[in-house]
Amino acid sequence: MSTWNMEHFAALLLPWYRDNGRDLPWRHTRDPWLIWLSEVILQQTQIAQGISYYRNLSSMYPTKEDLARAPEDELMRAWQGLGYYSRARNLQSAARSIFGKPFPSTYEGILSLKGVGPYTAAAIASMAFSLPRAVVDGNVLRVLSRYFLIEEPVDTAKGKALIQRLSDEMVGKEDPAAYNQAVMDLGAMVCRPQNPSCQTCPLQGCCAAFMAGRAKDLPVKGKSVKVRDRYMRYLLLRDEAGRLLIRKRSSNGIWRALYEWILFESDEEVPLSRILEDGRLKGVDLECLNVSETPVLHRLTHLRLHILVDSARIRYDQAMKFLDEGYEWATLEQCQEKAFPRPLLVYLKES
Ligand code: SF4
Repeated sequence: MSTWNMEHFAALLLPWYRDNGRDLPWRHTRDPWLIWLSEVILQQTQIAQGISYYRNLSSMYPTKEDLARAPEDELMRAWQGLGYYSRARNLQSAARSIFGKPFPSTYEGILSLKGVGPYTAAAIASMAFSLPRAVVDGNVLRVLSRYFLIEEPVDTAKGKALIQRLSDEMVGKEDPAAYNQAVMDLGAMVCRPQNPSCQTCPLQGCCAAFMAGRAKDLPVKGKSVKVRDRYMRYLLLRDEAGRLLIRKRSSNGIWRALYEWILFESDEEVPLSRILEDGRLKGVDLECLNVSETPVLHRLTHLRLHILVDSARIRYDQAMKFLDEGYEWATLEQCQEKAFPRPLLVYLKES
């Protein structure tokens, strides 16, 4: 890594950032709680979608104490649609652990909060407390691997450590928040994954990958995430009054504490016969309302969910076995007050 390249990086980047940086709502505050909230929202979420959630959640919970006090159902409902609900639960649990106490003002103190990793800790430390801590996310990995022509795979511990070390050396003490935001903005707006706009890039004159004509070859990636298929077939039961049979998920897997209908799931496709043969439906008069044939595909990091929703009408007094298992009847209005996983929410809105 040439020192010359390192010295020029921030000097070229920061003037560009002052003229071109994105105006994002969480960049107008130095409140560590609000910066933390924004960072958690933005994990696995596009900025455009994250903005409206940030506005809503920051007005519902302007302090960590407000979030700590919030009922779980209310938080899940406010988080609905963002996915990865464990983020919200961890955030609330961490907010409760520092209820009424000053926000930690050191990198190590921030890192000790539940659910906070090195990236979020560095973001809060630099943006709220001006500590010289560099963030390293996908944008930073891409920009630096190209700028320095790093051929070490960036998804390995060694590759990440190398880029973290370079970033820590370059972040500087003068304005670490601007430095971090500038690298992320350049990665999002100019040094994009597929079509880097080298012709308009402020780093072009010093960028090793550009000079070697290799920008599109980088970053190098070693391992790919193994994605598993999971088949979920829901039975949505309605009673004569149009109420729906729902239950809160309690398992530790995906969507914990969100609501759903009767679920049949497997690593293989679930045929309709599995529902019809279910012991809880023995002797029950079901009036079929809809049988779905085309699954909705919903992707998570490690899972590809194939979701079918069938619906039927059942007499109120024939659902006792389900009530014994924790299901409850809810009107459509009551369902709208509860948090459902996004694919079910879409279905609910259409019904
Ligand atoms: Fe990325 Fe091209 Fe700029 Fe290099 S010159 S940092 S490859 S956009």
